[in-house]
Amino acid sequence: MPQAPCDPALREWLRALPKAELHLHIEGTLEPELMFELAGRNKVPLPYASVDAVRAAYRFTDLQSFLDLYYAGASVLVTEQDFHDLAMAYLRRARDDGLVHVEIMFDPQTHTHRGIAIGTVFAGLASALREARDTLGISGRLLLSFLRHLSEEDAFATLDAALPLREAYADLWVGIGLDSSEKGNPPEKFARVYARCAELGFRLVAHAGEEGPAAYVREALETLKVARIDHGVRSSDDPALLQTLIQRRIPLTVCPLSNLKLGVVRDLSEHNLARLLRAGAMVTINADDPAYFGGYALDNYVASAQALDLSRDELVTLAANSLQASFLPAADKTRWLDQLAVAASRG
Ligand SMILES: [Zn+2]
Repeated sequence: MPQAPCDPALREWLRALPKAELHLHIEGTLEPELMFELAGRNKVPLPYASVDAVRAAYRFTDLQSFLDLYYAGASVLVTEQDFHDLAMAYLRRARDDGLVHVEIMFDPQTHTHRGIAIGTVFAGLASALREARDTLGISGRLLLSFLRHLSEEDAFATLDAALPLREAYADLWVGIGLDSSEKGNPPEKFARVYARCAELGFRLVAHAGEEGPAAYVREALETLKVARIDHGVRSSDDPALLQTLIQRRIPLTVCPLSNLKLGVVRDLSEHNLARLLRAGAMVTINADDPAYFGGYALDNYVASAQALDLSRDELVTLAANSLQASFLPAADKTRWLDQLAVAASRG
């Protein structure tokens, strides 16, 4: 997609800002090169002749056309080592982009439905996050996400399968998310499983208002009682809802390049991220599924800065929002926000 030439100084300044990523699907970080490597390792047939053929297939018309390819790609993930390698590749990219903390969504049902044990998924992701904490200096959390095109019963079964693992991954697994095909799968469909997750003390987030209407954002907020809305860009269709989001400082984890690639916006210059931010909404910038959408976190910051003419103060606010909206302890947030202030004043 055509982008304005990047200002290297702006990119380096943005890279140096401590930032968190809050909307990232680990399965969506599977680069074609790793897809082929894992397919070879596990002898999984792929419907593509080459890495270039995979990239050529990344021409999506909407959310569903992406999801079809995304689930096919995930079929190469089989062993604990595969999940570890996938996550480590992302975490190195995250460190290189100046991310200091990441909250990673993963979809157990994508894997358990093809016979992979949920413990294999947890073990591989957790070992990578712990290695990254020790060797890359980047902290991480896991958000177990339910696939909304499946039933609530299936979500309950997934939760039941995961709960025995909770203690072993208590340092990482803090929350619950809801993703996949939004249209026709309103948040309300998962009201009971979210109520159960709230009782269990999990932090709650849900995708809403990406392709679905603003009413889904309201439902996610009022019925599922989420702490953050993933995407939420359609919230601006409902001024009263937007005022509620602003007053309650509900974070929106916006993914600009994802929205562009899936046709949520025709051009990045038309994205409402800047309008939402300037109206006082707690907007954050994230990559969603970077291997498929042509950009990681820093690419999303740079592209948004250029297309929407964001000021340096606004970019610092976006970075600060990402730290504030994270599920990090207050002391960690304060420490990173102090470092952000120092980094922002340079250059
Ligand atoms: Zn997403």
